[in-house]
Amino acid sequence: FSNDDDLDVSRLTYYALYALQHRGQESCGIAVNNVDADGNIKMLQYKDMGLVQEVFNDFVLNELSGQAAVGHVRYGTTGASSRESAQPLVSRYLKGSFALAHNGNLVNVEAMREELQAQGAIFQSTNDSEIVAHLMAKERINTASTAEAMLKVMKEIKGAYSLVILTPKRLIAVRDPQGFKPMCIGKLKNSYVFASETCALDSIGADYVREVEPGEVVVVDKEGLHSYTELCGQKRALCIFEYIYFARPDSVIDNMNVYHSRILAGKALAKSYPVEADLVVGVPDSGIAAAKGYAEGSGIPYGIAFHKNSYVGRTFIKPKQSQRESSVKIKLNVLSEVVKGKRVIMVDDSIVRGTTCANIIKMLKAAGATEVHVRVSSPPFLYPCYFGTDVPSNEVLIAHSHSQEEICEMIGADSLGYMELDKLQETVGDICYCDACFTGKYPMAIPENIIE
Ligand code: AMP
Repeated sequence: FSNDDDLDVSRLTYYALYALQHRGQESCGIAVNNVDADGNIKMLQYKDMGLVQEVFNDFVLNELSGQAAVGHVRYGTTGASSRESAQPLVSRYLKGSFALAHNGNLVNVEAMREELQAQGAIFQSTNDSEIVAHLMAKERINTASTAEAMLKVMKEIKGAYSLVILTPKRLIAVRDPQGFKPMCIGKLKNSYVFASETCALDSIGADYVREVEPGEVVVVDKEGLHSYTELCGQKRALCIFEYIYFARPDSVIDNMNVYHSRILAGKALAKSYPVEADLVVGVPDSGIAAAKGYAEGSGIPYGIAFHKNSYVGRTFIKPKQSQRESSVKIKLNVLSEVVKGKRVIMVDDSIVRGTTCANIIKMLKAAGATEVHVRVSSPPFLYPCYFGTDVPSNEVLIAHSHSQEEICEMIGADSLGYMELDKLQETVGDICYCDACFTGKYPMAIPENIIE
C-alpha cells in the first residue's frame, strides 16, 4: 500500500513474488487499484499459468499502475490446475471491486458451496478462495466496514487462511485464528507491505515490523494501520512443514529463523542417529541447512555433493513416468570428485513417495560413494494434510505402508534415520505448531465428507 510515497506498487509486488516463487510455481498474478484521470478507481489485474518471470514483463507491469497492489503465486492444492484458479481473484459486488489472494486450505467449504449454490450463486472455479470472496461480498452489504465483514466471515470459515484483500481504498491482511500459514508486516517509507515470508520484504528493501497475529485483521488506509484482534488468542497451530521444507532459509517466521531451525534439526538427527562416515551432504534446497547442522553436531565434514540446475521452469517438459529417473538427473547432478570413495551421510527434508530419494542414492553410488546413509529432517509422512500442503493420498505415502527397515531397503540406503517426533519442538523453540501429517492429530475437527 503506497501511502504518498509514489511507489511503483506493481514492480515491487513483482520483485516480492519473485522472492516467494518457491511457495508456488503453478500460476501467478498481480492486481492493482488504478485511479484514472477522472478519479475513478478500477481494479486491474494480470495473471496466467507459469512462473513469475514467464508471466510478467515490463509492458504488463507498466499497465498495472495503482495506489496499492496484491500478488499471488499459486501452489495448487484444492481446485483444478487452471487459469480460473489463478489468483488474485477479482470480484465485483454492490460496493465496488476487490482483489483477494489466499494462502492455505479451508476445510468446511463444501457445505458452504452447496448452501451458496442453493441460493443461486455461481462459481468460476473449484477453488475454495472463491467461497471467501462470496461470503465477503455478502457480509459487507450488512456491515459498516470491510474489517467488520471480514471478522464475520472468519466466524464462518474453518481451516487455514492467510489472506490479503485489496479494495479501492484499503489493503486488508487476515490470518486465521490458528495461524497455520505465516504472514508478516513490513514497512517501506510510509507504506505498508504484507507477505508470507520476510524474504519478500528483504527483496524490496522493506523493514520487518511484526507478524500478523493469528486471528488478526489488519487494515491499511490513508490514515495508517488499524488492527482488529477480537478473534486472537486461540491455540496456535503453525505448519511445522514451513520450517522443514516450504519456507526459504533466509526467512524468519513467528520470530524463528528458518535456517536456524534446520540447523537444529540436523543437530538433533546427528544425536539420534550417529554413524561412522567421511562426509555429510544435503539435498538441495531444503536439505542443505539440516546437513550443515548434522555436520556440526557430528564433527563429520560437510561437503557439496550436488549441482542443481536453477533454470528448470514451467517450460521443462517432464519426462514420462517410465523416464522418471532422468527427471531428477536433469535437475540435479552429483559432483563425483567430492563423493568418490567416500562413506556419505545424505540429509534430505522429507521422503514422500520415496522416488526422489531412491534416485539420488543411485546417483551417489554410481558416482563412487561407497556407502549412503540417509537422514531425514522430518518424521515419516503418514497422514494427509487438509490445510494446504499437497501430501498425496495414503496409498502412495511410502511410510504409510512400509516399515523404516523396508523403506531403507527400497531406496537402496545403507541406513535410514527419520527425525524423531518428540525432537521437533526443540527445532522451533516455544512455537505451538501443527504436525498432523506426522501424527494424525489435527488441530481442528475435519468434516467427514473430506476425510481421505
Ligand atoms: P518423493 O520422491 O515423493 O519422496 O519426494 C520427496 C521430495 O519432494 C523431498 O525431497 C522434498 O524436498 C519434496 N517435497 C516434500 N513435500 C513436498 C510437497 N508437499 N510439495 C512439493 N514437494 C515436496
